[in-house]
Amino acid sequence: MNDTSTPSNFIRQIIDEDMENGKHEEIITRFPPEPNGYLHIGHAKSIWLNFGIARDYGGKCTLRFDDTNPVKEDIEFVEAIEEDVRWLGYEWSDIAHASDYFDQLYRFAVELIEKGLAYVDSLPADQIREYRGTLTEPGKNSPDRDQTVADNLALFEGMRKGEYADGERVLRAKIDMASPNINLRDPVIYRIRHHDHQRTGNKWCIYPMYDFTHGLSDAIEGVTHSLCTLEFEDHRPLYNWFIDNISAPSQPRQIEFSRLNLNYTVMSKRLLTQLVESNLVGGWDDPRMPTISGLRRRGFTPASVNHFISQVGITKKANVIDMLVLENAVREDLDPKAPRAMAVLKPLKVILENYPEDETEAFTVSNHPKDESLGKRTVSLSRTLYIDQDDFMEDPPAKFFRLGPGRRVRLRNAFVIECSEIERDQEGNAITLRCKYLPETRNGKQPEEGKVKGIIHWVNAADAVTGEVRLYDRLFQVENPLEDKSVAFTDHLNDESLITLKNCKFEASLAEASPDLRFQFERVGYFYQDPDSSVNQPVFNRIVTLRDSWANNSK
Ligand code: ATP
Ligand code: MG
Repeated sequence: MNDTSTPSNFIRQIIDEDMENGKHEEIITRFPPEPNGYLHIGHAKSIWLNFGIARDYGGKCTLRFDDTNPVKEDIEFVEAIEEDVRWLGYEWSDIAHASDYFDQLYRFAVELIEKGLAYVDSLPADQIREYRGTLTEPGKNSPDRDQTVADNLALFEGMRKGEYADGERVLRAKIDMASPNINLRDPVIYRIRHHDHQRTGNKWCIYPMYDFTHGLSDAIEGVTHSLCTLEFEDHRPLYNWFIDNISAPSQPRQIEFSRLNLNYTVMSKRLLTQLVESNLVGGWDDPRMPTISGLRRRGFTPASVNHFISQVGITKKANVIDMLVLENAVREDLDPKAPRAMAVLKPLKVILENYPEDETEAFTVSNHPKDESLGKRTVSLSRTLYIDQDDFMEDPPAKFFRLGPGRRVRLRNAFVIECSEIERDQEGNAITLRCKYLPETRNGKQPEEGKVKGIIHWVNAADAVTGEVRLYDRLFQVENPLEDKSVAFTDHLNDESLITLKNCKFEASLAEASPDLRFQFERVGYFYQDPDSSVNQPVFNRIVTLRDSWANNSK
């Protein structure tokens, strides 16, 4: 998998033309998250696009924190965002904060007032909304719209000095209250918030609004192509209006593309915050979350996430991507490189009655069936083993090629065994299988009596490591948890999205395995160690099953 061979898209074509026409000497982009939550895989699309363009065109991409709402933002989120961008494999040319520009933005606002293009409004918020009109009716002018420049300058200065309470005054751009585009009906550009800011402390009690801040920050940084999602298409005339009417240091161009949407999850920080704050998940990095930190903890690789985004591509068409595409991306990435190992998730004891009590043998096995460079390891075997409960049936149907009373199966890498007796608990459940092994079937040889088709995995009881496995599934039971507005989206959470198995048996080699390694547990899936692991008690997260099993599970 090669995530550096980026496919072209309509935005790259625009940039190619701009370069050919000599419009820019250097391409400058930015990734502008608001630090009010952790990044999700939707952000990975914007990161891949912005940082990927800067890399491929020899340009720059700034990581800019859009920190204009001090009420919701936090340094924890800033740090998490930096970590996630780095983990995805990108390094920013510069790090910036919209708050770095508060002085400059204030001067831009004053410039608008001086040009007669902004005014301080005393209408309360609900009236501003009412005066704004609707899609079919024009808005009407605020009584304050025709105040003199001098009055506006004095009032704005008063706002800055803290002479008014939150909501008592706002600064509005003076554009057109009858514009068919509601964004141009005198949008608010500054509001009052008596709230300390994580970076500027109590210096400001007025904060610039998103549209004003965003485009002008782009202009200050010399961004050439400001790439954002489609919901900002209607804001583009306003974006341009600010740049055209202010002595902006450069003329960035906004281009919109469609958001990434995935089924069976939600992808807005607001909703993800609700899941975290109501403890419906274990935190932002819960491996079921669509966050970058959740995917990382679960065991997804940066390459798989970037490859997934490049498969989805950049267009203007809104659509929903199937979770299977993401899962396939990580399978494709891991299959050629994940070492194999044996782990029994639901152990059932097997005693090989004809195997000597005090003997142990070691089988040398390849870590990967197709890649010798991943080396070999030894797997030990002695009289008592574990197999998975799912590989045994008391009353198996004809097509069941695993173990049953009187049946034979091959132990992977070892030999064929035959089940001769079943020991049960008081409820009648099988707890131990007494088997005999066929010594002549080592090295893949078949017994003379007939071929044994089934092969199962197993772990040697004598040196097995006991630990925990966490099996993850879709976080929601329905494709679109937001579709039915009559119920809370949290009503659709999947109760079985996390299944914890405590008494799993891992082959001994896993005791010393590096926590960075992702394994394929043979016949079970891909697994990655969770930070909850301790030395004697590993915890493995299932990244993904070997094949798609959602269709069967959901029946
Ligand atoms: P959210 O609704 O989750 O808070 P947002 O768009 O408000 O998302 P920001 O932190 O403002 O989040 O986003 C930073 C950048 O990431 C923006 O340029 C935004 O367009 C982009 N982005 C956010 N979500 C997606 C998505 N699902 N697909 C593609 N880009 C996205
Ligand atoms: Mg947002």
